[in-house]
Amino acid sequence: MSTNDAALPTADRAAETLTLPSWQAELRAAVRDPAELERLLELPAGALGVPAGTGFPLLAPRGFVARMRKGDPNDPLLRQIWPAAEELTPAEGFSADPVREQGLAAHGLIQKYAGRVLLIASGTCPLHCRYCFRREFPYQAQLAARADWEPAIAALRGVADVKEAILSGGDPLSLSNRRLGELLARLADTAVTTVRIHTRFPIAIPARVDDGLIRVLRGTRLKTVLVVHTNHANELDTSVERALAAVRPALTALLNQSVLLRGINDDAETLAALSERLFACGALPYYLHLLDRVAGAAHYDVDEARGEELIAALRARLPGYLVPRLVREIPGELSKTLLA
Ligand code: SF4
Repeated sequence: MSTNDAALPTADRAAETLTLPSWQAELRAAVRDPAELERLLELPAGALGVPAGTGFPLLAPRGFVARMRKGDPNDPLLRQIWPAAEELTPAEGFSADPVREQGLAAHGLIQKYAGRVLLIASGTCPLHCRYCFRREFPYQAQLAARADWEPAIAALRGVADVKEAILSGGDPLSLSNRRLGELLARLADTAVTTVRIHTRFPIAIPARVDDGLIRVLRGTRLKTVLVVHTNHANELDTSVERALAAVRPALTALLNQSVLLRGINDDAETLAALSERLFACGALPYYLHLLDRVAGAAHYDVDEARGEELIAALRARLPGYLVPRLVREIPGELSKTLLA
């Protein structure tokens, strides 16, 4: 997770912004300064505590920040992106590679599950989610985009019975439409029948759903599944709703995955509101993940028993298609482990 331009001086960023597609301009203009974030949210300086200085800096697009409640240090969107001091407290069982995938990656391709391969399409994200299990992933060494995707595609051709390519990252929609189109064309020239794109872009920067992206998705022979990542209904404002409505006709399926996060969405009412809001936006809740135990994220952890209790509460109040599957990733297992 990084932004390629994070090191650019502000003035340079502003000048280049003039020629960029609007979503790239929004990414460049994202909030990176903790003190500025406090000011934008009308919080007193220092109200959120001393930010943790880590190699995974604050990154929050201004449109996402605008959905946060002003003056509320416990806002559920703010808590997903604020680098809290607790990140620096070591916790037993939390590590840099919680799902032990770093050793599995080769040419930006990871094969964990039968019939599917995962491509690390990009190391760039539209925002930095503090609980992200790939916050310490070595993107520079593991990018499928190298050499025009050639080594990754060659490795994919060597995988038996592969039907689905899962584009992950980072965020695959940080690729330009041209690069994404090239990748889909390469994949369409293999035995793959479905491409699944895991992305937070339509939520963080809805302008990413532009005409060019829709053309790319419509133009492939592959079945296309878009899995967005939303944890709280407040993330889904009208700009996101419009973006999802625009992209949906170009897809085979539009799904959502969430992470169960302490103090953010670990109550039945919040999760039910999320499912209902997703449905209103045309997306179905797919997975609710228990946290992958990445170092720095222990303060978000919710235990399995509470997760199961929440799913039971959702079943009692929602139709089955609005109840996500509670899953945990266990290193070495051939699929996610279904808990409820
Ligand atoms: S959860 Fe997704 S968007 Fe957020 S930091 Fe991780 S890879 Fe990036």
